[in-house]
Order: sequence, then structure tokens, then C-alpha cells
Amino acid sequence: MKFSTKAIHVGQAPDPTTGAVIPPIYATSTYAQASPGVHSGFDYSRTANPTRSALEECLASLENAPFGLAFASGVAATSAVLNLLSAGDHVVVGDDVYGGTFRLFDKVFRRYGIEFTWVDASRPELVEAALRPQTRLIWVETPTNPLLKLVDLEAISRVSKSAGVPFAVDNTFATPYFQNPLDWGADIVVHSTTKYIGGHSDVVGGAVLTHREDLYQTIKFHQNAVGGIPSPFDCWLTLRGLKTLAVRMRQHEASARRVAEMLTEHRAVDKVFYPGLPQHPGHAVAARQMRGFGGMVSFTLRGGFAAAQTVSQGVRLFTLAESLGGVESLMCHPVTMTHGSIPKDVREARGVVDGLLRLSVGIEDEEDLLTDLQNALDAVPMA
Ligand code: PLP
Repeated sequence: MKFSTKAIHVGQAPDPTTGAVIPPIYATSTYAQASPGVHSGFDYSRTANPTRSALEECLASLENAPFGLAFASGVAATSAVLNLLSAGDHVVVGDDVYGGTFRLFDKVFRRYGIEFTWVDASRPELVEAALRPQTRLIWVETPTNPLLKLVDLEAISRVSKSAGVPFAVDNTFATPYFQNPLDWGADIVVHSTTKYIGGHSDVVGGAVLTHREDLYQTIKFHQNAVGGIPSPFDCWLTLRGLKTLAVRMRQHEASARRVAEMLTEHRAVDKVFYPGLPQHPGHAVAARQMRGFGGMVSFTLRGGFAAAQTVSQGVRLFTLAESLGGVESLMCHPVTMTHGSIPKDVREARGVVDGLLRLSVGIEDEEDLLTDLQNALDAVPMA
């Protein structure tokens, strides 16, 4: 089965009782047992729920994984993976990641005695050099948030395999439509399904997919023991969004390409970050490991924060908001929004500067989006 067929059918056979074509929302906390300990695989909905199982099965199939687990948010999914670790363990992390991932690692798990080394994971030699005997996890995003750097998945998986350390990839930006990290040697894939997978900015969720049964069993244990599960209604909404992921991603990408090209030519713009541009330093890696370049575009403005204010107030179709991946176009100012929890000096050293804007290019009419951005950029005063 190919991608779109899997997205629509896997885990979603018509309901055996009624023939309902769409998996029902099993709004139940508990299940009747035939006799003590004898049940149909469901005993309590924190442990398992049929609507959640449908979502888990479908997401796993899209990442070419035998095992999938759904969570209440992307952060809950990330947290469940970190539950593989114990005090004294060490993690090598790509330095350009979602601000909430930084916050979770630095402000929560560090307090439990887990150490983190942050490196530019677009340089695999730095990941290798950061390994310690205590390293138990390598964690990257690619393309990264917000600078859209590319991490060579095959190279990092070689490093992880020779060190015997599990390799986790946050695949939220690329989505399984454009990239399958497990096929390049990663052990775990994490998603914020809040983004492209849900696709309509109406539900928060997360997922972990893996082909390693040992990791699956441990993470599943924590899913139940810690309890960060999504509701049946949220699973149903996510499944509904997932059905159209392929068609949405094609349009997101087509428009993002045109937006990136337009930005490179605008006088108010300094740098444009889009992996689909031939001049992007990660373009060759992206072309190899991705099937498309995605719908996210970041850029810096010559006029810094003042210019970012002008542009974000000038747009009419792009909404200034956190998050990404919905059908509607969003504009984010990472410094004051998604990456505000990163200290200023750390942030600036990583290139997340005051004049940076990040676009989630939606699937409205392409010409309307280009005109909207062009008008807002034209309003930036000449230096
Ligand atoms: N990973 C990435 C790349 C994200 O952009 C986000 C949220 O913005 C998350 C993880 C966290 O997901 P959630 O907001 O669903 O908890």
C-alpha cells in the first residue's frame, strides 16, 4: 500500500459491529470482562482505547514502523522517550530544536540528574565528539525549528550504531509524507501531531513510532504508568486530519517554494532558510533523505526587530501565532514566541535573532499568500 492509501485505511477498517466506515469515538474509560482477567485486549482506557489504537496503527504504518504510541501532546511524547533514561545518563541533542524541547530537557529532566550536550547536529563529527560512556540517547530534529538546518540521518545513525546508543528524530516538520527517519537508521521517531498530521489547528497531540520492540515496550509501559494519553475524541480528530496529509503536504510545499523564492529577492530580507533552495547549505542532504522540502520557511530581516514588527503587523492572511502545520498560514516570531524560553545569549549564538520570522505556509491560494507577504515587506522602511 502506498502512503495516501495507508493514511486513509490502516487501522480504520469499517466497525465490525455496525459497519461504520469511520472508527467510532470510543468514549469509555473501562470495558466489561468475561471473567476475571479475560477481555478483548481492552481493560482500561489509559492502558488502551480502540480509537487510540486506530491512530497508533495508522501513524506507525506511515513511518514504516511496527509499533506506535499516541500521546496527549508532542511534549508528552518527547517526555515518554526521555523516560527511557535514568539519573547519571547523558544525551547528545541537536542545538536547534523546538523551544519547548529545550525547556523540557534543560528545566525538567536535568533536575533528575540527566545531562545534555547541545551540538550543531548538521555536523555529524560534533555529535560523535560529544558522546560519553554514559550517553544513552541522541536526539535531533530535521529540518530544525526554527532555522531549518538539515541533519544527515544516515551519518548520525552510523555514529549511534557504532556507539550502541538509540537515535531519536523529531520528524514534525518533515512529516512522514516527506521523510521516514527509521528508513535511514533512526530507532525512534517523535511527532507533534498537533502540526501537519492533525493539520487543522484544532487538536493537540503527539506520537512515538519505533521498530525496536524493546524500546516500544518500555515507552508503552511509561505511557500507561505516567498517563500522558490523548482522549478518544482527540485521536478521532487527528485521524480525520491524517487522511488528507498527502494532498495538504503537496500544496504546502508548492507554495512554500514560491514564498522562499520571492523572499530571496526582496530588499528587506537578509537571509532565507528553506531546504528547497539550491543555495541552502543542507540542500543536498535534504534532496537525498527527503521526498520534498516541506512547508516551513524562515527568514531574517535587515531591519531587525523593528522590521519584524512591521511585517508581522502588516500581513492580513498570515496570522501571527505560535504553532504550524495547519491549513491556514501562520507567522511566528521565535524570539518572543516558540523560543522565548531559551536564554538570550544561547539563542543568539544559535542564530535565533530578533529579526527572524518563521512562516508556516498554508494551503490558501498561492497568489494571495505571495501578495500578502509582498505588501507587508514593502512597508519596511528602506535603511
Ligand atoms: N516538536 C516540534 C518540532 C514542535 O514544533 C513542537 C511544538 O511546536 C513540539 C515538538 C511540541 O509539540 P506539542 O506542542 O504538541 O506538545
